[in-house]
Amino acid sequence: MGTLTMKFGGSVVGTPAALKQLVQIVQQEHQARGKLVLIVSALDGITDQLHDAIQQALLDNRRGYRRIAANLRTRHLALINQLSLGDIEQRSLEADIDQLFFDLLALCQKLAETTGDVPMNDTMDAILGFGERLSARIIAAFLRQHGLRGVALDATHLIVTDDVYGNATPDMELTRKRVEENLLPLLERGIIPVVTGFIGATKGGKPTTLGRGGSDYTASVISAIIQAEEVWMWSDVEGMMTCDPNIFRQAKVIPELNYEELAEMAYFGAKIIHTKMIWPLREHNIPLRVRGVFTTEARGTLVHANANTDHNPIKAVTAIQGIGLFSERSGTLVEITQLVDTLLFDVLGTRAEVTISAQSASRSFICFVIPTSAGPEAVRTMHAELSQKLNNTASQSHWETQPVSIVTVVGSKLDTQAGITAKVLQALDGIRILALAQGPSYCSLSVVINPKMMRQAIEKIHALL
Ligand code: ASP
Ligand code: MG
Repeated sequence: MGTLTMKFGGSVVGTPAALKQLVQIVQQEHQARGKLVLIVSALDGITDQLHDAIQQALLDNRRGYRRIAANLRTRHLALINQLSLGDIEQRSLEADIDQLFFDLLALCQKLAETTGDVPMNDTMDAILGFGERLSARIIAAFLRQHGLRGVALDATHLIVTDDVYGNATPDMELTRKRVEENLLPLLERGIIPVVTGFIGATKGGKPTTLGRGGSDYTASVISAIIQAEEVWMWSDVEGMMTCDPNIFRQAKVIPELNYEELAEMAYFGAKIIHTKMIWPLREHNIPLRVRGVFTTEARGTLVHANANTDHNPIKAVTAIQGIGLFSERSGTLVEITQLVDTLLFDVLGTRAEVTISAQSASRSFICFVIPTSAGPEAVRTMHAELSQKLNNTASQSHWETQPVSIVTVVGSKLDTQAGITAKVLQALDGIRILALAQGPSYCSLSVVINPKMMRQAIEKIHALL
């Protein structure tokens, strides 16, 4: 049997109960296959707090970042205390953790002390990546406690990236060499590497991160290089769901998807998967399973090239928040697109990934998606900033802004399946549609609507499944 890659998300590495499940899963698969690679995220919420620490350091608020670091340290030590590790293991782990916090504070201080235009992006990425370095050490120690040969491995020694800090892309060839040097020998010796997700380093060794949610990407890059047999993504949900269960309780697990359908789902708001992770897997034809650590008896979702698409062509319905811009004129959209994109980056530190635009002889409409990773307040903040900016910009056309929801139907061959578009539009009868877009891969159909109608739209489309 080949190597299995298992990625454990932030929701399942932060409590003793979840870690016990993790150990059981690892024990079982290690016995069955021998070769395992683990990729781990930071504990839930830690990366957000590290982000806050960076903001405090940039404001030169030393008490601010020290308080955050102290809280983070307490949370990790409290977790360790609940794991009943042996004395020696516990002491050495605590020493490791203290060293990491010492380094973290030094980096924050460096950030606080630097003035002027010195770019500090690598320092910020170094800080953002501490959560994964902490969790990998804790998990490796817990595996050893259970007789498994776990070793924590910082992906700065594996994943070689470009220097787009905050959203770096791995260089597959350079990464391959590092993986062959630093990871494969461990596997040969029966060791279970516990690799930090999310982080990498440039060729010159400067720390980078792969974008929020990037641990998935780490798992897929490594899997492509080692030609893993499968990738399993573990979290606290049972699999990919037909819609967000927080929005509509009737959501069900989707048994099978192909890579394109998964990509559309991720792109249009299914939070549990990072969009960029899908292509390396598809290229190397590596199946992906999405599974829940508290529901190990269930099979979860299997993603592979020949997923069963015979029955209902509609697989899921997703929703994502955005900002719509309307103008009573028709003209070039370039200027306004650039304005919004720059503003998004300045205000939220993120770029708009999906844009839907429509134009008639007398009206223009553009819709920008605010990524979910930008946080719950992002739409409001962005809306306020944008309205203000547009008022102050002497532009030919007058633009009005309003928050919108983009509800997307995901499935296969939506263009050729009889009447799907008609059925969806019929289901949405009574809900005003501001714009409509079909994905070029024919795997998605999106409608832009007022956010107040989102839940209703999802329920109505879900009834078609
Ligand atoms: N911890 C990182 C984040 O919160 C990466 C990940 O969890 O995938 O974005
Ligand atoms: Mg994630």
